[in-house]
Amino acid sequence: MLEIKNLHVKLEDEDRVILKGLSLTVPKGEVHAIMGPNGSGKSTLAYVLAGRAGYEVTDGDILWNGESILEMQPDERAAKGVFLAFQYPMEIPGVAGLTFLRTAMNAVRKKRGEAELTTPAFMKIVKEKGEKLNIDVNMLKRPVNVGFSGGEKKRSEILQMALLEPTLCVLDETDSGLDIDALRVVAEGVNALRDKDRAFLVITHYQRLLNYIVPDKVHVLADGRIQKTGGKELALELEKSGYADFTGKAA
Ligand code: ADP
Ligand code: MG
Ligand code: MG
Repeated sequence: MLEIKNLHVKLEDEDRVILKGLSLTVPKGEVHAIMGPNGSGKSTLAYVLAGRAGYEVTDGDILWNGESILEMQPDERAAKGVFLAFQYPMEIPGVAGLTFLRTAMNAVRKKRGEAELTTPAFMKIVKEKGEKLNIDVNMLKRPVNVGFSGGEKKRSEILQMALLEPTLCVLDETDSGLDIDALRVVAEGVNALRDKDRAFLVITHYQRLLNYIVPDKVHVLADGRIQKTGGKELALELEKSGYADFTGKAA
């Protein structure tokens, strides 16, 4: 399970403290949502989980399966099963999606001491996963995300998640203005990958994603801490009341 304990995070080049004692536990097999007002540190949490540069952890710890990941590089975290789905997936001109995916998969396999996938073995897995998720893998012959619609970017990202078989999936979908098709793609992907050995942290500003991904728990992040935890009904309450109760101002 994921255990975040008393996490304090500041920006590396500024004296701004973003997370001020955030604690949270996500057992395997569960989907937890994090909701919160703009600027409350939701994306910061996702980046710190993935090990992105620019953030300094000044106190607290993040344990995945009982092991602290804070000192690990992003690629080591990935090898331990941590996956972050980006809010704005990167475009990589000149690199075909299939090449990118194969490189990512083999990098993780190498870290785990597993053999590289042969081309036929890789293609077989891609086709199987694509079919299961209803994703046309022909899209992956094109350069990564270049000229993709929002929905196509999400499809390629969800397929990447399915192929890497992470055990901790962090999705940051905040304010990204995903249209309803893209929301469905994300939700169907997450729901298809829900598994007793996998934990999901779904970060979202809006409740509507949670109509499709029904979370086991909902946490409200405001002022750098989890202010409230509840069941899926908490998301609906927040939709009505906004975040004013947690910030002292209208959300
Ligand atoms: P949320 O995702 O909840 O909207 P963020 O984690 O993106 O919140 O941001 C939290 C606060 O930290 C915001 O005030 C944001 O402007 C600031 N912030 C986050 N990352 C950076 C950064 N790399 N440089 C400057 N400010 C940042
Ligand atoms: Mg924001
Ligand atoms: Mg954000």
